[in-house]
Amino acid sequence: MYNSVLSRDVGEAIRGRVAHAIDTHSNPGHRVSMPAKRTSRTAKTARTLAKRPTRYVYAFGERTDGSSAMRDLLGGKGANLAEMAAIGLPVPPGFTISTEVCTYFYDNQRRYPSVLKADVEAAIADVERQQRKVFGDADDPLLLSVRSGARESMPGMMDTILNLGLNDLTVEGLAKRTANPRFAYDCYRRFIQMYGDVVMGVQPANQESHDPFDALMDALKHELHKTQDTELTADDLKELVKRYKKLIRSRKRVDFPQDVYEQLWGAIGAVFGSWKNERAIIYRQRYSIPTEWGTAVNVQAMVFGNLGDDSATGVAFTRDPANGENVIYGEYLVNAQGEDVVAGVRTPKQIAEMEREMPESYKDLQRVRAKLEKHFRDMQDLEFTIENRRLFILQTRNGKRTGLAAIRIAVEMTEEKLMDQRTALRKIPAESIDSLLVPVFDARAQKAARVIGRGLPAGPGAASGLIVFTANAAEQESRRGNRVVLCRMETSPDDLRGMLYSQGILTSRGGVSSHAALVARQLGKVCVCGATNVMINYERKTLTADGVVLREGDYISIDGSTGEIYAGPIDSADSEVKRVLNGALAPSESYAYRLFHTVMDWADKHRRLKIRTNADTPAMAEQAVAFGAEGIGLCRTEHMFFEGDRIDYMRQMILAVDEVQRRAALKMLLPFQKKDFAGLFKAMNGRPVTIRLLDPPLHEFLPHDDGVRRKLAIKLGVSPEFIMDRIRALHEENPMLGCRGCRLGILYPEITEMQARAIFEAAAQVMTMKKPVVVKPEIMIPLVGFKAELADQVTIVHRVAREVAQRTGVKFDYLVGTMIEVPRAAITADELAEVAEFFSFGTNDLTQTTLGLSRDDMGSFFETYRQKEIYQHNPFASIDESGVGRLITTAVERGRSTRPNIKLGICGEHAGDPASIAFCHAAGLDYVSCSPPRVPIARLAAAQAALKSA
Ligand code: PEP
Ligand code: MG
Repeated sequence: MYNSVLSRDVGEAIRGRVAHAIDTHSNPGHRVSMPAKRTSRTAKTARTLAKRPTRYVYAFGERTDGSSAMRDLLGGKGANLAEMAAIGLPVPPGFTISTEVCTYFYDNQRRYPSVLKADVEAAIADVERQQRKVFGDADDPLLLSVRSGARESMPGMMDTILNLGLNDLTVEGLAKRTANPRFAYDCYRRFIQMYGDVVMGVQPANQESHDPFDALMDALKHELHKTQDTELTADDLKELVKRYKKLIRSRKRVDFPQDVYEQLWGAIGAVFGSWKNERAIIYRQRYSIPTEWGTAVNVQAMVFGNLGDDSATGVAFTRDPANGENVIYGEYLVNAQGEDVVAGVRTPKQIAEMEREMPESYKDLQRVRAKLEKHFRDMQDLEFTIENRRLFILQTRNGKRTGLAAIRIAVEMTEEKLMDQRTALRKIPAESIDSLLVPVFDARAQKAARVIGRGLPAGPGAASGLIVFTANAAEQESRRGNRVVLCRMETSPDDLRGMLYSQGILTSRGGVSSHAALVARQLGKVCVCGATNVMINYERKTLTADGVVLREGDYISIDGSTGEIYAGPIDSADSEVKRVLNGALAPSESYAYRLFHTVMDWADKHRRLKIRTNADTPAMAEQAVAFGAEGIGLCRTEHMFFEGDRIDYMRQMILAVDEVQRRAALKMLLPFQKKDFAGLFKAMNGRPVTIRLLDPPLHEFLPHDDGVRRKLAIKLGVSPEFIMDRIRALHEENPMLGCRGCRLGILYPEITEMQARAIFEAAAQVMTMKKPVVVKPEIMIPLVGFKAELADQVTIVHRVAREVAQRTGVKFDYLVGTMIEVPRAAITADELAEVAEFFSFGTNDLTQTTLGLSRDDMGSFFETYRQKEIYQHNPFASIDESGVGRLITTAVERGRSTRPNIKLGICGEHAGDPASIAFCHAAGLDYVSCSPPRVPIARLAAAQAALKSA
């Protein structure tokens, strides 16, 4: 449903724009075959250009106006085409219409700057001269491609038109010139289909239905008893062209345009228009690409990969984008055009096969590969066409890659001296470290599972979930809390939303550079594609492979590292790196570990921020230390009370009606706390440990279930009514802002006393062991807003420390500090610093209190806020720099004004977010403290922040 609406809207919008563009720009003087008075037009345009400062059109070819440094203006594709032309790579000539025109287009009701028409015509004339062909000429027509190209690549999100310039006359000219009518009509039918779809909006009715042009193609093949497109003769294709035109006329009540300039402006308008199609908008939101950037439009002379068996088209990565291996990687199709590869319509051949099949072209491609890597100093993703054995490069860009590949390529390119260490660190997205740590299938469960098929391993990792066949089903099931694997014959950009909701993606067609594979890699999704033995039937909602029929809602598992497909669910297991860190695998046995270790080592050399972890148990602490944590930045002591009997003592303490009862319960809790703290101190072996005193609203610990309440009543020897009464008495309307944080310790000082005692007694114990452990406790008071609150609690802590020191004879080296979690604390940080020896920014609460936004209740409106771009990102995931951030910098400045060497850290969830880590670096904090699995990411992000500001 969603897709049919999307297609219609986009189609209608584009049609409207085309009509408008034709209105504004079509010139009755343009006859189909006559590029009238080329020379005089060029001369006139040159004079016009001299008069005005703004240039909108940039040539590449014999003369090149741009360079790779001009991405903002020319988009990534245009800038790199210019760069490649300038370094002598074989690039067909063309020109780029700048992103400024896109901005102008949207600011001026989809009109163009008045000079653009003349500039484009002059640029076309220049391409005509270089190609010795004429646009719209009936004898030897110049054909063009019109492609989008934003500053950041947005694969498949915007529109492209190929073979533009064909009409009923020029197609005959092309047929004669090439002596290949089949080729000419193949181009023509492709052009009509693309133009009909993208510019005129002739599209499938909904996600389940076939493309109407493909349906006509299939019907014709069926009538003719042919299976492959390549079996169709020139006459067959002529017939197809007729049917395509009829389809357009019946759907749109207008004819397919014959005027080549009308075609050109239609295509340019559609490409600019596609900047604001729904899938491009979703993509931009996902990757935080600003709408204002706009896209450029690249118009380029066509070269043909469908001119016969010595022609081909393909895409290649200079290294394997899935695992980073230093081999040329990609695929090609003989006698085909580019969109056949990307759309996954025919299953292409691996580049390795080209060495045998087209050895000369393979050598040319290898030479280009080396030149590109040396020039761009990064792995490249290129599109190429071989036209009668001549290799042309149509595009290059830094290749998208999996996290694993990003790491391997950066490390190996540094070793090959193509990059330096700093560049390598900058090139690895910090989050991608995760890909070395993600779970893989449990080996035993995987062995026992039934393999029902195999596809191309396109996005590594292990995914197991319910089968869904549509993006909508993926969204629905995932909203119900189920893990899903999206199974499609092939994916299109319209599936993006569904892919975001899926654990994994499985396609039965297409290769490693098909849309499914590209996007999955980028999203870090597990992906297996081109599984040709898997039959997917959308109508019956079945997936059949190896005699097994699975239905929507059945479990399936896919291994994106091997390409294997399994019926049923499979448990997952730890990654190699984790196994090395846990001692289950020797470091020398794992190349993944070597990569991990190298990157972490480099990162540690460059970062200034220390990395701590939020851990409440020795096991968590040990895991974090293995990942490189340098201390604990937050131990939430309330988390220590959830286990076994402790919760009942905790409940007894909360339900106590007076201090005597409370102290009795606290006495039971003390040994548990002491043991836990000793465990943490041992696990951290001399590293600093920040322990936060009890923080949460107490009623969170009380039983809400009748049965549990009855059992508790029996255990405590009270009546169930008594428990109910106490629960009612403790009820708060707004517990997040109620009796929690330091208020608990102020109301019940005996709690603070018990916790402080447990800390110091545990410290004394491990400091006096046979093999003593150095302990540096940092005791932290939560949710403070007033200096007096802090002073009240600090007094208790110091008193207990003195008492334990006297009794044990141990001298403690400890700090007492506060969390900064409410705006008042940030604003009065100079006062708090008179008492606090450190601050730790609790940005979960600080965000909640600054934005007046419940950290638990934003689900209902967050999506709308994102869509309306009120929030650029989730403020609980990435710091709201201009609001919360300003409070942090204020607190840093004021805290230091009182106590210049005050220790500063952050322990909210933001501490594991690379953008927030960059902020913390710039704000001058001493450390960030994140959850254990994010420690490696934080190490790298901290290094990147340091390198950026250097
Ligand atoms: C915080 O508020 O950021 C914090 C770390 O404390 P908690 O999440 O436990 O409230
Ligand atoms: Mg908090």
